[in-house]
Amino acid sequence: MARTAPPPPRVQIRRLIAVFCVVFGLACLVTLGALFNIAATLDQQEQQRSAFHVTQALEQRLQASSDYLYSYAVWDDAAAHLSGEVDRQWAYTEKNLGESLYSVNGYEGVFVVNDQRTTYGLFKGAMIEAAAGSLIDAPLAQIIAAARAAASAREHVSHFVLLNHWPAILSAAVIHPDSQVTEAQVRQAPVMLFVDQLTEAKLAQLGQRAGLAGMHVEKTEEHDIGHQHVPLGDTGYRLAWISPLPGRQLLWAVLPPLLGVLTVLGLVMLYLFRHALRSSRAIDLSVERLQQSNLALEASEQRFREVAEATSDWIWETDRQQRLTYLSQRFVSVTADPIEVWLGQPLNQLLSCETTPLSAWLDGQVGSEGEQPANLRCVYRDHKGMSRYCRLSARAIELGGELVGFRGTASDITDEVEAHARIQHLSLHDPLTGLANRNKLARHLELALTRGSDSPPLTLLLIDLDNFKAINDSLGHAAGDAVLQEVAARLRDTTRDVDLVARLGADEFVLVLQGIDNRSEIDRLCRRLIDLLQQPIWYENQALHIGASLGIAQTRSEGLDAGELIRCADIALYQAKADGKGTWRYFAAHMNQQIQYRRKLENDLRRALKNNEFVLHYQPRYCLSDLRIASCEALLRWQHPHEGLLAPDTFIPLAEQSELIVPLGRWVLHEACRTALGWPAHLLVSVNLSPAQFLRSDVVADVRDILLQTSFPAQRLELEITENVMLNDIEGALGTMLALKELGVRLNMDDFGTGYSSLGYLRTYPFDSIKIDKRFIAGLTNPSGNDRAVVQAIINLGEAMGLTVTAEGVETEQQLRALQSDRCHEVQGFYLSRPLEKAGLEELLQNTQAVPAGDG
Ligand code: C2E
Ligand code: CA
Ligand code: CA
Repeated sequence: MARTAPPPPRVQIRRLIAVFCVVFGLACLVTLGALFNIAATLDQQEQQRSAFHVTQALEQRLQASSDYLYSYAVWDDAAAHLSGEVDRQWAYTEKNLGESLYSVNGYEGVFVVNDQRTTYGLFKGAMIEAAAGSLIDAPLAQIIAAARAAASAREHVSHFVLLNHWPAILSAAVIHPDSQVTEAQVRQAPVMLFVDQLTEAKLAQLGQRAGLAGMHVEKTEEHDIGHQHVPLGDTGYRLAWISPLPGRQLLWAVLPPLLGVLTVLGLVMLYLFRHALRSSRAIDLSVERLQQSNLALEASEQRFREVAEATSDWIWETDRQQRLTYLSQRFVSVTADPIEVWLGQPLNQLLSCETTPLSAWLDGQVGSEGEQPANLRCVYRDHKGMSRYCRLSARAIELGGELVGFRGTASDITDEVEAHARIQHLSLHDPLTGLANRNKLARHLELALTRGSDSPPLTLLLIDLDNFKAINDSLGHAAGDAVLQEVAARLRDTTRDVDLVARLGADEFVLVLQGIDNRSEIDRLCRRLIDLLQQPIWYENQALHIGASLGIAQTRSEGLDAGELIRCADIALYQAKADGKGTWRYFAAHMNQQIQYRRKLENDLRRALKNNEFVLHYQPRYCLSDLRIASCEALLRWQHPHEGLLAPDTFIPLAEQSELIVPLGRWVLHEACRTALGWPAHLLVSVNLSPAQFLRSDVVADVRDILLQTSFPAQRLELEITENVMLNDIEGALGTMLALKELGVRLNMDDFGTGYSSLGYLRTYPFDSIKIDKRFIAGLTNPSGNDRAVVQAIINLGEAMGLTVTAEGVETEQQLRALQSDRCHEVQGFYLSRPLEKAGLEELLQNTQAVPAGDG
């Protein structure tokens, strides 16, 4: 169900403010309305009250005036003196109805009217002759009639009239004695009129009595200016006064402060609203920013996850106690272990290192920020319990200078390690029999011999099979192989674990016995071995018979050199064979003709250098993709005056044992560079360097000098070096190679796969290319061996490290095809071209400059 998102805070606050404003406005209106209402009510009440008081006061005045008049009119004397002709003496002079009525009682007019005739008149205390009607503006006749009508009831009448154009209260009463009077009498009797003019003084008095201010008389038609008033009869005047307005006073008293308070309140609210709006806008903005950064965060998380899943490595993270807090999904695909099982577990429970305690190593990463993360090779187990290897990289995570944990990657290198181990094993073992090979034998001897005089005596037995070649030639390689495997098994069975059994050549085996140098004991063993090997070997229901001859050399008698030891055993073996096979011989000095021969060769070598008897042959190396020549390798030959053309294997080891290798090496370099100058400019020349040259001369200086002397471009010179160079002096060799690289030459690792730890060297040393040893190529198309797998592993490794990979010793088309399908880069071998003399090569180069090389 879709849920609508709540409006943003600003909109909510706006709504709230609007509601608040409306409520506040309404509250103000209601308050003011109530206030005005109260004020109006108060004023109205006050007006009613004052009107009531004024009316009452007027009525009292009327009543008082009437009553007073009545006391004059209903009076026997008055009736006597005022009927008919008025006795003025009595009335005015004797002051019975005289001037005091004005001065004391305030009557402006006093009249006696008889039969429409005014018989007596006073105006403001003075006697006048004028008729009452001339002063009084009122229908007097009616008034008089009304007075007469009222007289019988002993009543009198009062009226508002105008006296001398000014409102006044007129009271009229019939004058009669204070006794019962008849209607007829009344009709005849005169009427007395008292006119009480509403002067300002009297009104003031009236007002005072009613508690009202501003009492005055005004014309009815006069414009109403807010005074309160009551009409004074039909006079056209009215009595007006100023009525107090308590309501208005209340308003005046309350309204300004109230408005003030409301204004202040309004302003405060305005300020608060603005503030709220502004902060809500800020909140909106930060909410928006938060949303944006959330989106960015999500995107980057996703990116991280995708990268983490895409790489072949898995990523891990721990807290500061090195307990796992994160493992990338890749971990699951490598180990098939669920991640949850490992979260919270210490890292060193998952991984361990054989050489360094993991947690101490991790602690060592603290404070190494900015440096390349360190690597450690670790072992772990997958869900099947199989050991796997990984390269662990780690970095301390520090926040604000404080350690919060560690993180890094683990690259599974199990395949690499296994390939390495396979290569290692192959390089030290004979693939056919599984016995140690020449390399391992050499190492074993070196190791035993470097212990010096306190090492146990060694006895080396060199065994050569008799009749083997015949079996091999007549029954085929398979039979030969079966024989060799059986021999290997029998040899292994007769020796102890501490002894070494090795296969040197086709049918040559070596036993190295440790701690035995008692001749009779050795004789017994030799006898047993010969008997054992003479036992028939069954192959396809066929009994094969071989024999064996043994040559024996011992460290005790022949010195401490491993090479020497084998050579001595070889001489003894030769002797044993010469003495009729199926027997054994110990080395003896007189057998040392071969050594003599070598001495002679050494001398010859020295002479040959002087006489220029050396020549270089060149063997091309081809790019596998288009079979174009990439380089030519210089291979040394000795044109011996008596023995003919000698291969390097016969004299280079000799030269290496003496200083001769140095001048010989220089000569090769010089000759190769000089020759290659005449080749097409894209062709490299490859020159082999012997490890002895590294030891005995300054190779860097030699190469630099020769490049300068011959003007040969350094980038066209490739030096082929075997890893034995690194064996002698690891640090020094690295320095030399870096210096060589600085000259601009290329470095090629020769005979790759035969040495100790080829992979390690590859990573550390600045090689441009590697040459897979021809031994692996020879077994390439053998379906039962694993040489093909090793070659593939090496090609992949080289590829991964950006190195050009060459296969040497390619002798057949099948090998070439196999290498082609395994995407090897370059090839060299008899199949494509044997090593050629200088002239032969130049011819080949001319012929193949445009056309790729074909059959060699
Ligand atoms: P290397 O450097 O491994 O040279 C390759 C050897 O394999 C050469 O033997 C070459 O003739 C041989 N070869 C080439 N293609 C094939 C093939 O298809 N099948 C077989 N079975 N062999 C093939 P060579 O010329 O007898 O040289 C032997 C070794 O002598 C060289 O092995 C190298 O280590 C050393 N060497 C040769 N010339 C010099 C040099 O000028 N200086 C030094 N220090 N050593 C040299
Ligand atoms: Ca070589
Ligand atoms: Ca080689």
